[in-house]
Amino acid sequence: MRALCWHGKENVQVDTVPVPSILNPRDAIIRVTSTAIGGSDLHLYDGVVKTIEEGDILGHEFMGEIVETGPEVKKLTVGDRVVVPFTISCGQCLSCQQELYSLCDNSNPNAWIPERFYGDTTAGLFGHSHMHGGYAGGQAEYVRVPFADVGPLKVSTEIPDEKLLFLSDIFPTGYAAVERCKLRHGDVVAVWGCGPVGQMAIRSAGILGASKIIAIDRYASRLTLAKQGGADTIDYEECDDLEEELKFRTGGRGPDVCIDAVGMEAHGTTAMAKVDRAKHVLKLETDQPYVLRQVIQCCRKGGRVSIPGAYVGVVDKFPIGAAFAKGLTLTMGQTNMQKYMQPLFDLVEAGRIDPSEIITHRVSLEDAPAAYRLFRDNRDEAVKFVLKPGAPRVLADEY
Ligand SMILES: [Zn+2]
Repeated sequence: MRALCWHGKENVQVDTVPVPSILNPRDAIIRVTSTAIGGSDLHLYDGVVKTIEEGDILGHEFMGEIVETGPEVKKLTVGDRVVVPFTISCGQCLSCQQELYSLCDNSNPNAWIPERFYGDTTAGLFGHSHMHGGYAGGQAEYVRVPFADVGPLKVSTEIPDEKLLFLSDIFPTGYAAVERCKLRHGDVVAVWGCGPVGQMAIRSAGILGASKIIAIDRYASRLTLAKQGGADTIDYEECDDLEEELKFRTGGRGPDVCIDAVGMEAHGTTAMAKVDRAKHVLKLETDQPYVLRQVIQCCRKGGRVSIPGAYVGVVDKFPIGAAFAKGLTLTMGQTNMQKYMQPLFDLVEAGRIDPSEIITHRVSLEDAPAAYRLFRDNRDEAVKFVLKPGAPRVLADEY
């Protein structure tokens, strides 16, 4: 089969590799009909995340059709159409029973690596590093899906792939980032980063009853999409003092809920951001917390800060004093996907939201190396790529 494989920093290629087979009785094999490129893929592409190996298949957002099931798969049968969450969960451990699916005790065969770094293991992830299990990803024609009765959501419907595909990650991730802040009547929500997760957070904030949504980014295309999603926008490169601007727009208080949808690869222009970049290069600091500091500084006292943007290691000069003094609530983590997929599917089916409106590029799986370069550089107004295995190529090699 054809699959997008990692060959080193900024080097991915579509290779011909063996088709996966059933390894465990609870596995299913899925023929991928649509897959996407997300921000976490760029962390692998840029070489920020370690424990990835030559030949690993990337991709954690995908959906398709069941073509084979193991003997213990009860809920799914060959021919079922499913969306697959990016986290792998056993459904039986204490974490899964408490609906903390992203913290599953049993789905990461390399549990010793996060145990050493973080003190405990979390769920295995598709198409990520070996630290998260080393599972082959979904930017491929076929994928092996473990614990198939627990993860995939069956979608027997006429709704097209591109409206449902983002139930695999970014829609639940953006939604959960807002939902766990428990919005109150009249709350203002500010979202840093108008990439795919930020876009979903903006739209979810509208559904969950925010009185005003303020979106912060520097790319015109992303700000335009944010506006379409119901947000007021700020281009931070055009703004002298973001903290003042946010106070001005919120009656002098600051936003009630602040969402860092950027994460560890934040871009900043201040002296502190340059120190972060230098320390990152020297490996004195793994993540660049420029946005996180700003979020905590700008959040109103008593407010809630939510972090769906990924961080992996350690940061410097975390403003714990400001967070403490203002009594902020911080909430973060990978999304507990299974808790959200069905209710969010219902919202799509009811026409309350159309996640496909953030798609900017529809390409072939064979275009994936060019698509990664485009997405990384945000050239050609790139926000979200959807890849179709078997579709004709549309991107030129010079990308
Ligand atoms: Zn579990």
